[in-house]
Amino acid sequence: MRARYSAYALGNAAYVKTSWHPDTRPQTLDLAGGDRWLGLNVLSSDAHGDTGEVHFRATCRNFEGFAVLEERSRFLREHGQWFYLDGDHAVHALRPGRNDPCPCNSGRKFKKCCAA
Ligand SMILES: [Zn+2]
Repeated sequence: MRARYSAYALGNAAYVKTSWHPDTRPQTLDLAGGDRWLGLNVLSSDAHGDTGEVHFRATCRNFEGFAVLEERSRFLREHGQWFYLDGDHAVHALRPGRNDPCPCNSGRKFKKCCAA
């Protein structure tokens, strides 16, 4: 799961595809979009036998500002290896207040960081 996130963040489409279950894997995958991933927060993860679920939030920066992707991903284990099956996700725009911590994880206030 974290490996998949890292692959997304680094634009490693090959890894993202390999870790995708053959039944649901897209034909083509283009990660060259303008999104820059800033952080991953795993809220919960659960495995029962060969099925697993991960609930996470990931923050990204795109041309419109900041956004949060929240997803419950389903994973399936085959031959000892976990594959991403599918997930329910939602994307929300993130509009930090000027005095809020900056979503880029710099540790500074938004107004003194990316808003400046
Ligand atoms: Zn910032």
